[in-house]
Amino acid sequence: MSGLDAPVTELKGVGEALAQKLARLRIDVVADLLFHLPLRYQDRTRITPIATLRSGDEAVVEGEVMAADVVRGRRRSLLIRLRDGSGILSLRFFHFSPAQQQQFRPGTRVRAFGEARAGATGLELYHPEYRLLGEGAPPVEDHLTPIYPTTEGLHQTRLRALIDQALARLDATPEALPEWIPEPLRRRFELPELHGCLRALHHPAPDADPEALGAGQHPAVRRLAMEELLAHQLSLREVRLRIQEDGAPSLPDGRGLQARFLTQLPFSLTAAQRRVLDEIRADLAEERPMLRLVQGDVGSGKTVVAAMAALSAIAGGCQAAMMAPTEILAEQHYRAFKAWFEPLGIEVAWLAGKLKGKARLDAKAAILDGRAQMVIGTHALFQGDVHFQRLGLAIIDEQHRFGVHQRLALREKGEAGGLTPHQLVMTATPIPRTLAMSAYADLDVSVIDELPPGRTPVKTVVVPDERRPEVVARIRHACAEGRQAYWVCTLIEESEALQCQAAEATRDELVEALPELAIGLVHGRMKAAEKAEVMADFKAGELDLLVATTVIEVGVDVPNASLMIIENPERLGLSQLHQLRGRVGRGATASFCVLLYHPPLSDHSRKRLTVMRETTDGFRIAEQDLEIRGPGEVLGTRQTGLAQMKIADLERDADLLPRVSPLAESLLAEHPEASRPLIRRWLGEEAGRYGQV
Ligand code: ADP
Ligand code: MG
Repeated sequence: MSGLDAPVTELKGVGEALAQKLARLRIDVVADLLFHLPLRYQDRTRITPIATLRSGDEAVVEGEVMAADVVRGRRRSLLIRLRDGSGILSLRFFHFSPAQQQQFRPGTRVRAFGEARAGATGLELYHPEYRLLGEGAPPVEDHLTPIYPTTEGLHQTRLRALIDQALARLDATPEALPEWIPEPLRRRFELPELHGCLRALHHPAPDADPEALGAGQHPAVRRLAMEELLAHQLSLREVRLRIQEDGAPSLPDGRGLQARFLTQLPFSLTAAQRRVLDEIRADLAEERPMLRLVQGDVGSGKTVVAAMAALSAIAGGCQAAMMAPTEILAEQHYRAFKAWFEPLGIEVAWLAGKLKGKARLDAKAAILDGRAQMVIGTHALFQGDVHFQRLGLAIIDEQHRFGVHQRLALREKGEAGGLTPHQLVMTATPIPRTLAMSAYADLDVSVIDELPPGRTPVKTVVVPDERRPEVVARIRHACAEGRQAYWVCTLIEESEALQCQAAEATRDELVEALPELAIGLVHGRMKAAEKAEVMADFKAGELDLLVATTVIEVGVDVPNASLMIIENPERLGLSQLHQLRGRVGRGATASFCVLLYHPPLSDHSRKRLTVMRETTDGFRIAEQDLEIRGPGEVLGTRQTGLAQMKIADLERDADLLPRVSPLAESLLAEHPEASRPLIRRWLGEEAGRYGQV
């Protein structure tokens, strides 16, 4: 074990208690201290003449004590008047001891550091750090003073001393922290050398710009951010390699079965759907697992593409499974697949967390003995107790709700056949390419960039809630013409109970206002079977109006519904609104979306609702969303790993993203041996776990 891989307890003065505090900062070994970067810096490298100080400056001043008095204002305080050649300043202490007062005898020279603020006596430093100077002044700091993020009970100076110990170890054994990006690559990608960066960040030269350093704009921070992004990229590529080391069943194109399926559809595939299917077919023919992401805007027809892929698996004598993020969506897919596949003689099974007792056992038995050729469900599908006879293809719908771990867990589901299933991941979140390349580096990406023909874009209006009666009249009118409508209630997202209550109240109100209509209600607190029944009634046209919470957000498909009211849209993110709105505009009739807001709107909200009114292009909306909420939120990603980076920040370092992939490729081509150590350096144990799955 080198001096840097050693646990922090090896450092002088670090016991169990301190080690635990450090662990809260994710500092476990000595090297972690080196990568614990300052939040900001103080300049204590020069002495500032008192006369040049301004309120808000943090500075070192030096002068002679003129007087030290205990004064009574609102609070008792010790006030020291200090003079240098240029002016006079006060030091003020609210907590002080008599001994302290004694120290400041007139004529004593003092050096103090603090933030200057306007006080009762002019500029004052409150509770400055200070030292009394004897004969001759000690030198000032020779570098900017770093201020680290810390944790309760761990003082800044303590942490700083520990980091200095780590830096001393680095100086003594530089080889213990290897530079994994070799010089020629660093030159090509303009990355300064690692050790120099670490020193520059912990002990910046006096002439370094503390603002640029603190804002992460300094080349040294950017180099570390780049290395971290690189490590994430490498780890995803590693995951991909891992999965693709295994064999997968090579699937025939299944064209016979697919042709029979297509003839029963009331439409033909779009060119974009066909192109994406060709890409999928080519993958499925290989003897290594497909890892493909299909991006397509809301309503672009991803489900049919999934069905076609499933038919390839089934034609090849395998099972296919499709996982959806909500029960409502899983149930809807189940009904669609049943209607599509049973006429072809294919058995479709259904499994969700709420399926209990005998029904659950039966479903599991059919999955195990292979009777169920197509299996639809929620994440319950990929839990430990579900075993497939021969799973050839796993489809994950609305991927942004799932993480990389779930993708990896699929690898185990091929167990019985000894083969790893092909994976098809579908998402409606159209994220910009460079971000996609970072977030989904383990996947190939296909894009369905075309909506089926004959859709009229949804017209969106933004209306204050005092005009509710007009909106109700609009529903009456639409339903009288045989169309259907959604009324979406949004409330404090954290409280499902309140949200459901509000939806019930709204339903009651609308029942009263619209007695001639059949009105249904779905919300998250209803039993799965109840929800399914209401959805089925709505789909069958037995309900005119469906009052719902955001449970209908993803995937729900009822083409005859052409009017959607969203209450308090200002509470939702843009992508969520786009998903919701995507529930209408699925048929040929002109559709409307009414955003019924509660005034007054903040500028911010107004801007967002305007985006919704002006465009139905999911890509543009995603870009705006990215600008407003940042990549972590948009990717939906506590799970993607990218959200948990130590130094890199997807927003701040967005301009680095396009260079990450080329750097990863060059590194893998020229120095593949550097990949693992880089992953370990930045992802630690996590990466170890990926490797094992
Ligand atoms: P999403 O991509 O949002 O999952 P869906 O798969 O739910 O979209 O498809 C939306 C609607 O479009 C469905 O009613 C589906 O049957 C229909 N659809 C899919 N492909 C086509 C097509 N090529 N032509 C016409 N309608 C289509
Ligand atoms: Mg869908």
